[in-house]
Amino acid sequence: TKGAAMVTAVASRVQAQRKQIDKVLALFQLTREQLEGVQDKMRVELDYGLKRDTHPLATVKMLPTYVRGMPDGTEKGKFLALDLGGTNFRVLLVKIRSGWRSVRIYNKIFAIPLEIMQGTGEELFDHIVQCIADFLDYMGLKGAQLPLGFTFSFPCRQASIDKGTLIEWTKGFKATDCEGEDVVDMLREAIKRRNEFDLDIVAVVNDTVGTMMTCGYEDPNCEVGLIAGTGSNMCYMEEMRNIELVEGDEGKMCINTEWGGFGDNGCIDDIRTQYDKEVDEGSLNPGKQRYEKMTSGMYLGEIVRQILIDLTKQGLLFRGQISERLRTRGIFETKFLSQIESDRLALLQVRRILQQLGLDSTCEDSIVVKEVCGAVSRRAAQLYGAGLAAIVEKRREDQGLEHLKITVGVDGTLYKLHPHFSRILQETVKELAPQCDVTFMLSEDGSGKGAALITAVAKRLQQARKE
Ligand code: BGC
Ligand code: MG
Repeated sequence: TKGAAMVTAVASRVQAQRKQIDKVLALFQLTREQLEGVQDKMRVELDYGLKRDTHPLATVKMLPTYVRGMPDGTEKGKFLALDLGGTNFRVLLVKIRSGWRSVRIYNKIFAIPLEIMQGTGEELFDHIVQCIADFLDYMGLKGAQLPLGFTFSFPCRQASIDKGTLIEWTKGFKATDCEGEDVVDMLREAIKRRNEFDLDIVAVVNDTVGTMMTCGYEDPNCEVGLIAGTGSNMCYMEEMRNIELVEGDEGKMCINTEWGGFGDNGCIDDIRTQYDKEVDEGSLNPGKQRYEKMTSGMYLGEIVRQILIDLTKQGLLFRGQISERLRTRGIFETKFLSQIESDRLALLQVRRILQQLGLDSTCEDSIVVKEVCGAVSRRAAQLYGAGLAAIVEKRREDQGLEHLKITVGVDGTLYKLHPHFSRILQETVKELAPQCDVTFMLSEDGSGKGAALITAVAKRLQQARKE
């Protein structure tokens, strides 16, 4: 009959649409072989970055940090710390009492307006110093001359612990006249311009390094620091003999890998999708930080948005209507992705979140959106896992061990907020590095506290040299 024919027609259309959706989702499902491929390539790039001859061209920059040792528990004092480059800009006062694990933190979050992130370097650093002034005021510390540790979460070339030349901005920053400059000098000059207080800038630290230090303060097995937040990066303790750029063969030094740049030479193009390319092209730094753009909080929502646009164009979503909202960059922040993927959430609530974002969805739409989010964040967690597997395997081999027990200190909004990310990351490492026993340690306030600890260690060593 006519009715039956219509039902069949609708059913087959639904089936065809499902196939189209699955085809897109499949692009994000990496096989075991593909993940092993990523692990192997990461391993090659790590070695490439450590060797003097290949270092200048390496996409995984492998930057020496001049952090050579962990805190030993004798550090003490009051320190200021700055944390720039994550979701929030913060100024912190960290009080370390001698004896283990006795740290108190006071901090204040400040906004950095977009005009300042992307204005001139002078404006940016003047703003930072303004925030420090506000904080000192607020804490009743005006005029105090405190040692300061600067967590600056961008790639810096360092020649000592208190010098760091910004190689290039990443994430949402693009202030002029900073690349190629020493950020410690820029901060000192801004403090001088204000002419209101004096600070002793002792260390400039990447957030991964601060995170490793914070966890290392409690667990001496912690030799890796991982950030899964706005950006993506990892650091680890490397044997001095393997670091060709730094004189000396004794002991270890922390290397900031800057693995976000992995793939910038095209080595993982086989797994990049058209959506990844669109996100890259629409970013502040096209062609750069390709791995970061497949894995970190600042970009996952953008990948999702690109897929949703494409599915809508294909008539598979939102009744085929691309709304102005959907065209708006940055609408899917990590916190929304995390909410949408929460298992406790009923579909009706997913629709409510989409509504909040200004997207009108049907029940079917909300199912598809949730699937898209899942595919994108799952791939991100697996890619993180493959990268991490490369590093722990390297550490195991370098030490000639059958089994390696190692702790990874982790921080970042994606790791902390997302309902599945950390589990999938851990499962992937276990699969790809079965001879390593990896413990993940969430760092509370990793980057800020870590900067203070590193400052304290540097101060202690300075003092020791004077005596
Ligand atoms: C930066 C790294 C930083 C990471 C996490 C990346 O964009 O290049 O230096 O560690 O973000 O904040
Ligand atoms: Mg941070």
